[in-house]
Amino acid sequence: MITRYWIAFIVVLSCLLGVLDASAGDADPRYRACVKKCEETGCIGQRCFPQCKFSSEGVSIEGPWYMQEPLYMRWKQWDCQSDCRYYCMLDREKEREASGNGPVKYHGKWPFKRVYGIQEPLSVAFSALNLAMHFHGWLSFFILLYYKLPLKQDKKAYYEYASLWHIYGLLSLNSWFWSAVFHSRDVDLTEKLDYSSAVALLGYSLILAILRSFNVRNEAARVMVTAPLLAFVTTHILYLNFYTLDYGWNMKVCVVMVVAQLLLWAIWAGVTHHPSRWKLWVVVVAGALAMLLEIYDFPPYQGFLDAHALWHATTIPLTYIWWSFIRDDAEFLSSNLLKKTK
Ligand SMILES: [Zn+2]
Repeated sequence: MITRYWIAFIVVLSCLLGVLDASAGDADPRYRACVKKCEETGCIGQRCFPQCKFSSEGVSIEGPWYMQEPLYMRWKQWDCQSDCRYYCMLDREKEREASGNGPVKYHGKWPFKRVYGIQEPLSVAFSALNLAMHFHGWLSFFILLYYKLPLKQDKKAYYEYASLWHIYGLLSLNSWFWSAVFHSRDVDLTEKLDYSSAVALLGYSLILAILRSFNVRNEAARVMVTAPLLAFVTTHILYLNFYTLDYGWNMKVCVVMVVAQLLLWAIWAGVTHHPSRWKLWVVVVAGALAMLLEIYDFPPYQGFLDAHALWHATTIPLTYIWWSFIRDDAEFLSSNLLKKTK
């Protein structure tokens, strides 16, 4: 019965995500005309952007990268385009508001107000807090394993998932770092780094969910589970970076990976006698609810707080509970193993 609800949930989710893909803002001819004029003249009305003054020779877009203008010119171009888009968007949004219309998306994003040049300050702040929370969680896990719990004679931890969680910690730190960078400055490179890191983390945590919930301790069995998933995730990352950054397809891949691991943890929490299974329940239920924020996408309140930022905020306390579960798991399995060896 529960599985049926999940299938319905996934279907509804994928439909909604498909609908949300189009942006009305940048389809508006007045917005387009504004950006075009701005990129040509370097000005919108009285406001001018020095980075839009290109050398008279122009920039060759064709040919390999070493034949093109120096990299700083590319940066200048990016700055020019980004500023033109931003101020044209603000102007259009003011006009829309005056005529009683609500905000619309531009290039897949809501109209955010910048703070010190940071595009989405709240998402950056929450990403940084997630990063800090993962660092704290990983550090306390490390201290517990190597300084508080008894070690084997070869100074290794008894907990058999230790190195798997260390890699998880590193991938999480990496992913939140690029999330903070991407939300402060959205260009092609930062976007690809953010998406790739997130996919790597989600794929890896799915592998971890399978290994832990099925209690796979045998080295060969672990490789059998990991290899095909790792191959798929690597191919998907290469596809996004070097073929096409297909948002719709990527969202489907991510949703399937997230739902699969949430289901695995939920089912496992239901059958296991793990002393900290309630922490799993909290993370799974709250994590699934938080995912709804990605669906019921609302425009930023006061130009700052949107659904995506709120979603990043909810994962901060969940990260704390999650690492606390990992520490409990290390203690629980280590003491089980020690009891057996005695
Ligand atoms: Zn984000």
